[in-house]
Amino acid sequence: MKFNFDNTYTSLPTELFSVCKPTPVNKPQLVVFNQQLAEELGIDPKSESAEELAAIFSGNIFFENAANIAQAYSGHQFGHFTRLGDGRAVLLGEQLTPDGKRFDLQFKGSGTTPYSRNGDGRATLRAMLREYIISEAMHALNIPSSRSLAVVATGEAVYREQVQEGAVLTRVASSHIRVGTFEHLARFCSPQTLQIFTDYTINRHYPELIGSENSALSLLKSVIEKQTDLIVNWLRVGFIHGVMNTDNMTISGETIDYGPCAFMNTYKPETAYSSIDTNGRYAFGNQANIALWNLTRLAESMLTLIADNTEKAIENAQEVLNTFQAVFEEKYFKMLASKIGIEAVQNKDKELINNLLKWMYNNNADYTNTFVELMYPGTINDNIYLEEYFKKWKNDWKNRLIELGIDPELALKTMQSSNPVYIPRNNQVEMVLNSVSESGSTQALEALMEKLSTSYSASELDINYMLPPLNSEEKNYKTYCGT
Ligand code: AMP
Ligand code: MG
Repeated sequence: MKFNFDNTYTSLPTELFSVCKPTPVNKPQLVVFNQQLAEELGIDPKSESAEELAAIFSGNIFFENAANIAQAYSGHQFGHFTRLGDGRAVLLGEQLTPDGKRFDLQFKGSGTTPYSRNGDGRATLRAMLREYIISEAMHALNIPSSRSLAVVATGEAVYREQVQEGAVLTRVASSHIRVGTFEHLARFCSPQTLQIFTDYTINRHYPELIGSENSALSLLKSVIEKQTDLIVNWLRVGFIHGVMNTDNMTISGETIDYGPCAFMNTYKPETAYSSIDTNGRYAFGNQANIALWNLTRLAESMLTLIADNTEKAIENAQEVLNTFQAVFEEKYFKMLASKIGIEAVQNKDKELINNLLKWMYNNNADYTNTFVELMYPGTINDNIYLEEYFKKWKNDWKNRLIELGIDPELALKTMQSSNPVYIPRNNQVEMVLNSVSESGSTQALEALMEKLSTSYSASELDINYMLPPLNSEEKNYKTYCGT
């Protein structure tokens, strides 16, 4: 196999990374390989056997042109600053695709690095398959995300609460530059290094900003745009990241670091699935607030670049950060309106939407399925959709569409592109993971991925993939960080 690597990160100041190789594994075995993504990346694995792919994507084969680095970063975890870095990841290289795009190919779970602290550098097969499913689902739902190329079981035990099977995930992202990378620079490196890195980031992700008058301030504005887009997308499909620490937030605006994340079933903004998030800091409805909190850390990190005078720098940064709320709300209501078939949202529509959300909240309605019921009445077998208030709301909504002159066909089209019918619900994902570990076959995983790829275009609805959890154990599901 040949990679078309063009490694630029290694030319940055050496405080930003440590050269280190993946630790070879005992008995690599290919579990899943994303053929379509491989083709998009311009790597053609057709001539490789499963054994060869397993050796390559476990890190057992050494490539001359690989980057082989772990990246340095820091971050605020649950509000507390910590020095971090890739403790169990190694950047294989930056792949240039046939259509000229650049993607990091990174191994996750590939052994210890200088940043591992007390960690073992490894990952469990279950967690890596879960990341594979959810990241690819996010991509299928048109949400910017890191992607997953391969999962290889290592044949080695990983010790968590229980002994588990180990695995290496190859993840693909437009970069792994995080808010926490900037925090690291501001705290531990010189202003010159910070400037070099800011220029590097702009070059890589926001080339349209090259030459702008105040590049740090422009970068902040652009990241606000990207991150508000991202959070609104998450809110559109009910996604809860679970650990929005600043080290898990990218500058590119891609979703990254899938740990204890989940998709919400019943509409409850206070939903937090992560077992470590006991205060709901990263709850569904708090994600925009946290994005602003994180972006404020980004702004703080760049103050020395924004202006020589600190007070002036703070004032300028604050001015930009103050735009967040309005930028977010505009996108948020536009998104919600699209979920009921309205493209240009007015105050009246906001009220209509809020009434629906309030009803969903009070009646424990399923977030995804309520919008499915609006698109395809009668498909969801749940008596709450027969309630008087819901019927009245639907009437108000239909009258509003008439008032706006929106053709029902057009409204449906708008809704279809905004409302997924399938999301990777925890109960589904757990079933798939159990099936893989019990049968040794990935058939159930592939079937789920196939369904998810038709989430906006399904011609026939498959109710088996739409059912929210039924029993309380599934409903109270917590996702653990023991990854
Ligand atoms: P995360 O919670 O996955 O975003 O990880 C936070 C930090 O802990 C990052 O610096 C990771 O590299 C590190 N980390 C997580 N798990 C391990 C592990 N098993 N071994 C070493 N470092 C780890
Ligand atoms: Mg992380």
